[in-house]
Amino acid sequence: MTAQLIDGKIIAEAVRREAAEETAKLKAQTGQAPTLAVVLVGDNPASQSYVTSKGRACEEAGMGSITHRLPATATQAEVEELVRALNADPAVNGILVQLPLPKGLDEEAVLNLISLNKDVDGFHPMNIGQLVMKGRTPQFIPCTPAGCIEMLVRSGIEIAGKDAVVVGRSNIVGVPVAALLQNADATVTTCHSKTKDLPAKVRNADIVVAAIGRPEYVRGEWLKPGCAVIDVGINRIPDATKKSGARLVGDVAFAEAVEVAGYITPVPGGVGLMTVAMLLTNTVRAFKLQHGIA
Ligand code: NDP
Repeated sequence: MTAQLIDGKIIAEAVRREAAEETAKLKAQTGQAPTLAVVLVGDNPASQSYVTSKGRACEEAGMGSITHRLPATATQAEVEELVRALNADPAVNGILVQLPLPKGLDEEAVLNLISLNKDVDGFHPMNIGQLVMKGRTPQFIPCTPAGCIEMLVRSGIEIAGKDAVVVGRSNIVGVPVAALLQNADATVTTCHSKTKDLPAKVRNADIVVAAIGRPEYVRGEWLKPGCAVIDVGINRIPDATKKSGARLVGDVAFAEAVEVAGYITPVPGGVGLMTVAMLLTNTVRAFKLQHGIA
């Protein structure tokens, strides 16, 4: 079997186009555009490039985008003061604090401060709490996990009643993805570094989400034939044939998995592109919440 590719580029473009169309409607209705404020503390190069691509995506969708840059020496009080000011600013609809914060800053305290109805990253403990509680609806769903589900849904892959295995239990990916799959009526097994016989767990899954951070860790022979594989991993490995000397691979051994799975996301070109797209969706949602628009 050769799996059908779940193309992150096509799906992310569709989500971004829908956010742009919604933005145009909201502008016509209110005279204002949904606006995202991003807080970047320090000079981590990966964070800088994420922040640039988020700002560019907002602008391309016709949304407002403001980036606040603080030096790595910023104090907890300075970061918190900025978040409070953004909470109070009616021209700001969504607030995203780019993580990780430099050492010495208390991330949780900062995330706790973000206004619940501006928490477009969905990492406020209240939003996460509601996500994992039965029958509750969080204001916002974290972008990468939401992107994983969007890819399944838009590829016509049924989730209800399926067995899903999520490998990884981080707060930013594994835990929220598992909650979302369960909320969509899958039976979910969450695996981690202490899981016994991971291949056997994976072999049972109709849907596999890999968010481990280990290059090509999930092997093709672990997979149930025909399953759907969502590979969240982004790992840089040495490759002498590339000009840069490296290439990106996922947490799944793609060349093997593509022969067994029914559906699979590539890396690059998969989940990575969905994160920014879902951020736009969340920023539109924040604007509507704040303007009382259904
Ligand atoms: P973390 O390092 O926070 O979490 C990794 C998880 O994998 C942990 O729960 C860990 O278990 C588990 N794990 C580690 N080794 C094993 C193993 N041998 N067997 C089973 N489980 C294992 O990573 P993140 O969740 O932040 O990221 C995961 C991957 O996703 C990374 O490659 C990252 O770059 C990528 N990523 C991609 C994004 C995107 O936009 N596409 C966004 C965010 C992340 P334990 O809890 O026991 O330590």
